[in-house]
Amino acid sequence: MSENDTNSVPTAVELAQRLIRFNTSNPPGQELECARWLKALLDEHQIENQMLHPPGLPERANVVARVPGRGEAPPLLLQGHIDVVGVHGQRWSHDPFAAEIAGGCIWGRGAVDMKGGLTMMLHALLRARYSQNPPPGDIIFAALADEELGGQHGAAFLVREHPQLFDGVNHAFGELGGFTVHVRGHRFYPIMVAEKHICRIRVTFLGQGGHGSQIHRDTAMSRAARALRRMENRHPPFRIVEATRAMLVAMGEELSMTDGLALRMAMRPNTAGVALAMMGDEIARMLEPMFRDTITPTIIEGGRQENAVPSEVQMLLDCRLLPGSTQSDIVRQVMSIVGENAEIQVERYEDGPPTVDMTLLPYLSNLLESADPGSKAIPYMVAGGTDAKWFHELGIDTYGFTPMRLPSDLDFMAMFHGPDERIPIDALNFGAATMYEAINGYRG
Ligand SMILES: [Zn+2]
Repeated sequence: MSENDTNSVPTAVELAQRLIRFNTSNPPGQELECARWLKALLDEHQIENQMLHPPGLPERANVVARVPGRGEAPPLLLQGHIDVVGVHGQRWSHDPFAAEIAGGCIWGRGAVDMKGGLTMMLHALLRARYSQNPPPGDIIFAALADEELGGQHGAAFLVREHPQLFDGVNHAFGELGGFTVHVRGHRFYPIMVAEKHICRIRVTFLGQGGHGSQIHRDTAMSRAARALRRMENRHPPFRIVEATRAMLVAMGEELSMTDGLALRMAMRPNTAGVALAMMGDEIARMLEPMFRDTITPTIIEGGRQENAVPSEVQMLLDCRLLPGSTQSDIVRQVMSIVGENAEIQVERYEDGPPTVDMTLLPYLSNLLESADPGSKAIPYMVAGGTDAKWFHELGIDTYGFTPMRLPSDLDFMAMFHGPDERIPIDALNFGAATMYEAINGYRG
């Protein structure tokens, strides 16, 4: 085993290309081939690792590896998912699974979500393996299946069936953070410190059914329609949670007086709406989910027969809750909107941490601000959900940290699950270098 054989470590570009070329679209997932390749790479570099399959699902696979540190800090978890969303119905200008290089970017599904981020973690792990001066604590690398469909066969399976793999871990780095957001000529680096949690509610509207030839008023359908209209106009109240407040404060330190005023107004629930309007549509759309619970209808089902009025219409609501909001809070909101003659059933509720850990924020902010001088790191909350929620069951706090320095003309958010997903090679290398620095300075 040689101690300075870093030349044998593939470049970040090579690693990202290899990962993208495995079609791990979920459904169905089929992470196995990609996981096998990862395992072989880790074996080749003599890094302790294992492949773990959920029971009865040999095609689904997770890989967990560990590089020992100096024993001076708790182990640090680098967690990323190897599955991607599909490309069905999208027009791509490059083959989404060829990982072609064009215009300074690697093109393909997963380039940013999140095989690019996984590459940064893997590259840092490989370098740590050969370092003369190992990181303070062990580095645990987890390549996970099934994140895009909720993580049951990936993070949830590992956390529930193999929790000992993560003994002693306090913090993890995961997806969705550390990328450049350009606002009025300033460069911000949001670091994800919190995510909203999910509540799926089925509402059944009831009404008189009957023959299609007759005149009907106040049917289940019309009740559902009125509820839909109310949902567009009535929303759960604004509530400013700690992560949102911290983000507004940090942004206010950078922006001009006018924007600063809007940010201060945004910190108060009674003026938050006006403040968001002042910031303009684009910014408001991005920020608003951090200010309130949301109720979004996604599926409507009702009526099976052309000549019969249904006595029942069902509507599925995808509700996303702020830290601290509870199931009964959102049920009360939904009841006040849908009105009478409707039954409400909670189909799925994932509890989230009521408060948010931000202890690692100064450390990560410093790293990003020195890697891109003149920029400003800010905490933020993601409106969707990631595998962070599963690791939280073990008391592990995940920070969204896959650093990317991005040009202002790249519509980064459109890359997620969209066509022509790509990552600038500069951003990938920036991320790999910053990740390596981050694992070497982590003190717990
Ligand atoms: Zn992702």
